[in-house]
Amino acid sequence: MGKIYEDVWSKCLSIIKDNVSPQSYKTWFEPIKAVNLKGDTLTIQVPSPFFYEWLEEHYITLLKKTIKKELGPRGTLDYSIIMENSKAHKKPTQMTIPASNRMAARNPSISVPIEIGARGIKNPFIIPGLKKVVVDSQLNHNLSFDNYVEGECNRLARSAGFAVANKPGGTSFNPLFIYGGVGLGKTHLSQAIGLEIKTNHPDKTVLYVSSEKFTQQFIESVRNNTHNDFIHFYQMIDVLIIDDVQFFAGKEKTQDVFFHIFNHLHQSGKQLVLTADKPPIEMQGVEQRLLSRFKWGLNADLQSPDLETRIAILQKKMYTEGIELPKEVVEYLAYSINTNVRELEGALISLIAQSSLNKKSITLDLAKQMIDKFVKNTAREVSIEYIQKVVCDYFNLPIELLKSKTRKREVVQARQIAMFFSKQMTKASLASIGAHTGGKDHATVLHACKTVNNLIDTDKRFRGYIDDLQKKITLQ
Ligand code: ADP
Ligand code: MG
Repeated sequence: MGKIYEDVWSKCLSIIKDNVSPQSYKTWFEPIKAVNLKGDTLTIQVPSPFFYEWLEEHYITLLKKTIKKELGPRGTLDYSIIMENSKAHKKPTQMTIPASNRMAARNPSISVPIEIGARGIKNPFIIPGLKKVVVDSQLNHNLSFDNYVEGECNRLARSAGFAVANKPGGTSFNPLFIYGGVGLGKTHLSQAIGLEIKTNHPDKTVLYVSSEKFTQQFIESVRNNTHNDFIHFYQMIDVLIIDDVQFFAGKEKTQDVFFHIFNHLHQSGKQLVLTADKPPIEMQGVEQRLLSRFKWGLNADLQSPDLETRIAILQKKMYTEGIELPKEVVEYLAYSINTNVRELEGALISLIAQSSLNKKSITLDLAKQMIDKFVKNTAREVSIEYIQKVVCDYFNLPIELLKSKTRKREVVQARQIAMFFSKQMTKASLASIGAHTGGKDHATVLHACKTVNNLIDTDKRFRGYIDDLQKKITLQ
């Protein structure tokens, strides 16, 4: 017999399970632990403030109904949230708050006024000659939410970005850390957030800057003895978007100054949006104290778009460019180019260029010729989907089985091999490979890679499989 609160919660879970998708159940409900039952109030423990907000935002009605069903009409829910405290060196603490009392959960933001004559600050982003300090946000109007196609691959990142844009600094997605491989839309999404904030909150000072530009400015400021101006400038920004923070790796002084700017902004309730090619846990050459801050808010990934999303992206692009293409051409493009959005757009542009240069109309044949060249000319990164398909064909397994939970030996082996090749041949993170394989976690993927490496060394027949598969995958 478990404890009473555990029993109550497990009954709740069985109701919830019938009412949400398996993926959502796994993501949002499996990690919850019941920790107490006092009178009619059940306390559940959630791993982070973000988690709590997400539940409140998306599942509060279901949770309320379920609790009342189990505990009667007076049944209520309390959350116990594991907080990672904003002060360094403190252990994570807990706070308990009742359900649907959203504001109470937020870290009280300490507002630190900037005690400097802001007008005196020198910075290339400040538009000179104006009475008020006006910062050029460095935003490109084409990279808006309107032009950003939503798909399964970007749903979480996009909706978190949208939430942040509505309430900069006022959600627990702070920092919002967006990560994903090249050409998957990190820059576009982070710019879209900036633009949306400018529209919703015209009084806020928004700045988009690449980590390289930030670094370069910092180095110059040290050289010119304007280090204080540099820091003061960044401390007066309301929404700071830094793109590609992986380039901070190995740059200790820059990391140090960014650390202080980050703390100042975060403590003042200002919004930070960061992008990188990997999640914080996989970043190297970046100080631990920064990485831990990157994890404070929400880490959301961008994955390769599926076929449907690729078609939607092409259609959007054609619409904004005012061009029309036969349906079969669009589908062919989307089908053949499954690596990233940048390549997809590149192919579309070359196709249009080809047709207008040669005064040929765009037919499926022309598209085929062009794609052949295009695909050959770019060093293609294989996709996880493709690897899974080749592995499944090879072992004669349906792909659904590979993504299922089954522990059957031959399935486990194929799954591990697919994970191994995905790690080896794509830039996807362990977590993302796991997510593509029916929602396994990064530790499972890591374990798979180790197992496969061991077997390659010890099992001759297994080695043969790997060699065969390697050839099949690279000969795509
Ligand atoms: P990253 O910064 O991740 O390398 P970008 O943001 O530069 O990628 O995106 C590459 C190209 O693909 C850009 O032209 C961008 O507008 C486009 N793009 C990426 N994702 C989407 C999307 N979901 N909808 C529309 N266009 C997209
Ligand atoms: Mg980019």
